[in-house]
Amino acid sequence: LIELRDVNKYYGELHVLQDINLTVGKGEVVVVIGPSGSGKSTLCRTINRLETIKSGSITLDGQPLPEEGKALAKLRAEVGMVFQSFNLFAHKTVLQNISLAQVKVRGRKKDQADQRSRQLLDRVGLADQADKYPAQLSGGQQQRVAIARALAMEPKALLFDEPTSALDPEMINEVLEVMQQLAREGMTMIVVTHEMGFARSAANRVVFMADGRIVEDRAPDDFFTHPDSERAKDFLSKIL
Ligand code: ATP
Ligand code: MG
Repeated sequence: LIELRDVNKYYGELHVLQDINLTVGKGEVVVVIGPSGSGKSTLCRTINRLETIKSGSITLDGQPLPEEGKALAKLRAEVGMVFQSFNLFAHKTVLQNISLAQVKVRGRKKDQADQRSRQLLDRVGLADQADKYPAQLSGGQQQRVAIARALAMEPKALLFDEPTSALDPEMINEVLEVMQQLAREGMTMIVVTHEMGFARSAANRVVFMADGRIVEDRAPDDFFTHPDSERAKDFLSKIL
């Protein structure tokens, strides 16, 4: 579904993505881990073209990523992204947050959009919060709204960039449970996270990055029990 071939990206002198090759099949869940600054966020941002690349190719369903305009907006709907900071519109209600892009990007009627938003709120366990404003919700609830908003676009894949790292511990699980459920339902997902429990139980593969390179790309059990590289061993010894 998503394929990166020999992708290179620089920030000035910094070679932030180096010869990245990554294929994510339909329904696969790939967890990306690695030290701070290794390029995990940049990788996610590149896949939905929040960043441009210097060389290589990225395809979605065999098609190169669009450069601009309507096609780019459609790409961002088809490859939804959930960030560490929930990025909800503060002055709009929960329902409006989820309905807005459905109307603007997907061209749905407002009634239809609202109806779908309510279904999705139910699915993430927030049916009774539709009329609240983001600031009236907990961090975990806001992140679940952000996931519902991404789902409202009927994405082909979802990218998560440390979706739980801004949350208090007791709220992490409610977000991970929604993500686990999506994984079980066959959503294609790339998830940057340090939640190793999630990686072990939900991921088909773990991709370990260091210094802008993919150092390992393996089944979770393999990776956690027998990391190949010194970099991964060192990293795991610090977080496990
Ligand atoms: P973290 O775990 O801290 O989130 P990361 O693996 O997500 O790290 P990136 O955010 O992808 O790392 O950053 C990779 C490298 O690129 C870092 O050295 C970072 O300082 C640099 N970088 C990121 N964004 C920019 C930017 N907009 N301009 C210049 N350098 C950047
Ligand atoms: Mg990051």
